Amino acid sequence: MPGTHLSATARVVLPTPNKYLDQLTDYFAEHGRVTKSGNAGCIELSFGRATVKADNQSLLFTAEGEDETGLAYMKYAIANHVLEFARNDNPKIVWVGDGAAGSIPPFFREMRVVSARNITPSMRRVTLRGRDLHRFERGGLHVHLLFPPACIDNPQWPVIGEDGRPVWPDGDFKLVSRVYTIRNIDAERGLVDIDIVLHDGTPGSAWALNADEGDLVGMTGPGGGDAGEADWYLLAGDDTAIPAIGRILERLPKHVKAVVRIEVDSPADEQPLPASCAVDLVWLHRRGSQPGTTTLLQDAVKAAELPHDRSGVFVWSGCEFAAFKAIRNYVRKDLKLRREQHLVVSYWRQGFEG
Ligand SMILES: Cc1cc2nc3c(=O)[nH]c(=O)nc-3n(C[C@H](O)[C@H](O)[C@H](O)COP(=O)(O)OP(=O)(O)OC[C@H]3O[C@@H](n4cnc5c(N)ncnc54)[C@H](O)[C@@H]3O)c2cc1C
Repeated sequence: MPGTHLSATARVVLPTPNKYLDQLTDYFAEHGRVTKSGNAGCIELSFGRATVKADNQSLLFTAEGEDETGLAYMKYAIANHVLEFARNDNPKIVWVGDGAAGSIPPFFREMRVVSARNITPSMRRVTLRGRDLHRFERGGLHVHLLFPPACIDNPQWPVIGEDGRPVWPDGDFKLVSRVYTIRNIDAERGLVDIDIVLHDGTPGSAWALNADEGDLVGMTGPGGGDAGEADWYLLAGDDTAIPAIGRILERLPKHVKAVVRIEVDSPADEQPLPASCAVDLVWLHRRGSQPGTTTLLQDAVKAAELPHDRSGVFVWSGCEFAAFKAIRNYVRKDLKLRREQHLVVSYWRQGFEG
């Protein structure tokens, strides 16, 4: 319901409210716009805003969102960080106002597999059908897929707790969650395509290989990861970032230029990436080396020639952790791009589960 203004409040009793006010405003300043004056602060994130006021014994939060998802995200973000920073004080958070505890989160959808097919030898496209998908067209490219245990026909899904965080099913109903990108969305028909990189026997990969028409899967989102406005783009990623790069590219306006560098194993893993702007695309081939073990991507990023005037530049990258660290350092320290001119994200990490 875009345009609707929803809000909720929570008074959280804490021994040192001002200390936590400082911690919270410092933390959120890294992720959005924060103002602080005396005992009060205002936190504006892409999906909503919150004001916070400290008195002698508590913090009073007012969270606001333009829709149910925005408000739910705001409550979730505040609760997560209060509970993390003040974990030794064991604070109790109970939101009052819009968005009821015990209900299915507004950012959750139950989806059913429509079809699954390989679009390259290493990538499988799973098409999912669900209701009410318009909110997934904006506000981020990514979703979490929630895989129910294979032997369960009637999965349980998360519900919203009174502190605003989801309460997850446990025991036999425990879900496995992995992050993916919506490659295509047709909200009118209730369809999304998720392109999943296949690699040995991991939960996400195995789910994609076994996905069968009618299977149930949970989906939460949307979440961050989009490119900002610019007139010259460098888009760089490995196989896992092809869906995001593809989606960013096809929405770029005609007048911009995009330099694109993508690491895959071999030419067989390349795929068409339609765009209406000028694109300089180079596929980098690992030729049998394990993903995440080469410096192909970071070398290609460093070799890309940027315009002399960097004010219109945006660098977007999604890749394995080692390449992510190298590219982020290069973009921040060597290119000195401002925060709003780059988004470099670790999509996966060798040896770690997602
Ligand atoms: C914002 C975001 C968007 C993403 N979008 C996509 C997407 O659209 N499509 C997609 O396929 N992935 C995407 N990813 C990456 C994906 O979430 C991870 O690759 C995730 O680890 C896959 O889960 P899994 O169950 O297959 O493997 P895990 O159980 O998470 O990992 C098991 C083992 O496999 C290794 N591993 C994980 N991924 C890979 C890989 N790609 N190649 C080789 N080894 C790997 C891990 O290092 C670990 O050792 C995205 C990640 C993020 C953060």
